[in-house]
Amino acid sequence: MYDHVFRAGSIGTMRLPHRIVMGAMHLNLETGDDDGAALAAFYAERAAAGAALIVTGGVAVNPVGAGGPGYGVIGDSRDRAALSAAVRAVHERGGRIALQLFHAGRYARPGAREGAGHPVAPSPVHSAFARCTPRVMSPGDITTTIDDFAEGARAARALGFDAVEVMGSEGYLINQFTAPLTNLRDDAWGGDAERRRRFPLEVLRGVRAAVGRDFPVLFRISGNDLVAGGTPPDEVTALTVALAGAGADALSVGVGWHESPVPTVQSEVPAGTWAACAKALKRTLLAAGHTDVAVIAANRFPHLAQADEALSGGEVDFVAMARPFLADPQLVAKSAAGRPDRVNACIACNEACIDRSFGTERVSCLVNPRAGHERQFPPPQPARQRSGPFGRYAVIGAGIAGLEAARTLAGLGHRVEVYEAAAHAGGQFRLASQVPGKAEFAGTIHHHVRELRDAGVPLHLGRRIGGADVPELRSFDGVVLATGVLPAGLSLSGAELPHVRNYAQAFADPEGLGGRIVIIGGGGIAIDLAHTLTTDPDAEVTPEEFLARHAVAGSTPHSGREPAVRDAPREVTLLRRGRRIGAGIGPSTRWVVMRNLRAAGVRMLTGVTYREITPTGVLLTDAEGRERSLDADHVVLAVGQVPVDELAPLLREAGVPVVTAGGAAGTDGLNAVRATAEGLRAAHRI
Ligand code: SF4
Repeated sequence: MYDHVFRAGSIGTMRLPHRIVMGAMHLNLETGDDDGAALAAFYAERAAAGAALIVTGGVAVNPVGAGGPGYGVIGDSRDRAALSAAVRAVHERGGRIALQLFHAGRYARPGAREGAGHPVAPSPVHSAFARCTPRVMSPGDITTTIDDFAEGARAARALGFDAVEVMGSEGYLINQFTAPLTNLRDDAWGGDAERRRRFPLEVLRGVRAAVGRDFPVLFRISGNDLVAGGTPPDEVTALTVALAGAGADALSVGVGWHESPVPTVQSEVPAGTWAACAKALKRTLLAAGHTDVAVIAANRFPHLAQADEALSGGEVDFVAMARPFLADPQLVAKSAAGRPDRVNACIACNEACIDRSFGTERVSCLVNPRAGHERQFPPPQPARQRSGPFGRYAVIGAGIAGLEAARTLAGLGHRVEVYEAAAHAGGQFRLASQVPGKAEFAGTIHHHVRELRDAGVPLHLGRRIGGADVPELRSFDGVVLATGVLPAGLSLSGAELPHVRNYAQAFADPEGLGGRIVIIGGGGIAIDLAHTLTTDPDAEVTPEEFLARHAVAGSTPHSGREPAVRDAPREVTLLRRGRRIGAGIGPSTRWVVMRNLRAAGVRMLTGVTYREITPTGVLLTDAEGRERSLDADHVVLAVGQVPVDELAPLLREAGVPVVTAGGAAGTDGLNAVRATAEGLRAAHRI
């Protein structure tokens, strides 16, 4: 199985046992006050499970290059100590680790790190991402920065790293020099193609000189900036060849910038979409005679199966997977053991990883809330290594919080029984799996249920636990109450009319809804429903169709245009009292879903006051104070949720230890990330 993945390969002098690289992820563990213990534990667990080469999250080569306050800086002695701990931990588990040398340029936050000052870049091109206009780098700044990259590489080797990766893509500083959009200079560092690629080449030469010929150097190159004014395709080609000539052992191929109008890592991007960029670079290298430079494909490889397919033709040499290692540290080990079906797959939600990496909150994972907390919650031990005392626990509710609690309890060696009122496990998470582009969410439920089955945990479906069951529950050592939520109602005239549905009813029978729908509510569930109702559920999008839809041809830079409005099967209107639709959706995803709604012609009205639901639609006052009447065949309420928690006081009264998790613990700020994190914690607290 996965014969192409499980072949040894080389990056320069470094021999690796298989073709999967754990790609760089910023974790917000890099600058903690724990001497690198959490960072080391995170990497150690993945190295122990067979991640052959781990690339660290970006470590800034100087303070002004730090992407945020949680970014390590290689010149900082505390950050170096943390990195050193990580190196030791990985080596003790037989793994290899490369340091990513990073400079954010105009993507840096002003004053992110002590001594950082104002962000710098080749030219003063405003960054909507960092919300500032950078200071122009003087020629002296540029040569100093090249020296900083070289010094960073030297420090990495001294710290025991096995390789370095130079971050030259995703719109960070080096990429800003190569793109005409952000390099407006007309001096030795810009003005034409050759001068635009001088900075990356000088950085690579400096790094190579610092570490010597025998030390593996990877360069992360942008295969397609996906922004109007990005690096032209012929310049990408020329840079590829020049980097190989300047001593790169491997080119890891990234795509897209933070400002790109094309989604690159969101769930709607078909798996393997960006492999074509890496393959094009490999062809370029081979045509130029650089047969010994490895090419690493990256982005949207959720499963090893897709990595194996990309590797199968020999058109790329390695595949970098990042988020899948958050979701399941055992990704490689399980697959090597012939059990890829037991992998807890990344669902590309970005909610606990990429969205948090933009701020300071510790990165984790929706489907694996242990990620980033490996010291606090050690991994489950094989049964023979566990030591008691073991208890017997009931988990009530098999939504995502209950499933997480149950599998954690089982992993700790306890006896567990799970009770679920519905005929299926998954709760609200099942609704999400119906949304086009989110089919992978069903895989998480499937995985967790299978894990319970493997552990011999009885899952009693269709078994509603009520007050009459409390005496029986006293036989357990404790109860995790994860009974979830119900859709909230709306106190509005007409809300009881027969054409009014709540969101759960709408998801349960979308075919039963007419052609004109008004959704009252503008949160994540309302948006998911609008997307579902305006998208053909059977329309599976291939990578080619996705690229065509987003006007991406080969390595041609993107035009920056939005996709055209398409025919949608229904006319949908979203209404919100507040000013912002989808306010709670993470920054990496909200712009994509909003664009999808616009492309489907979904009308969005904010700042409205609801007057009445009538037999033919909704009466409201709009943000300008005008009375309006919207026609609708059906009106759907997506106005929040209420917790199902009535068992909690009964259990406490009966003296049964109980911990609530997910919706049952309250609906403020409720989302699946919070629910699974609470499921994990409840299992450890009970
Ligand atoms: Fe994947 Fe979501 Fe976990 Fe991030 S939080 S690793 S996107 S499942």
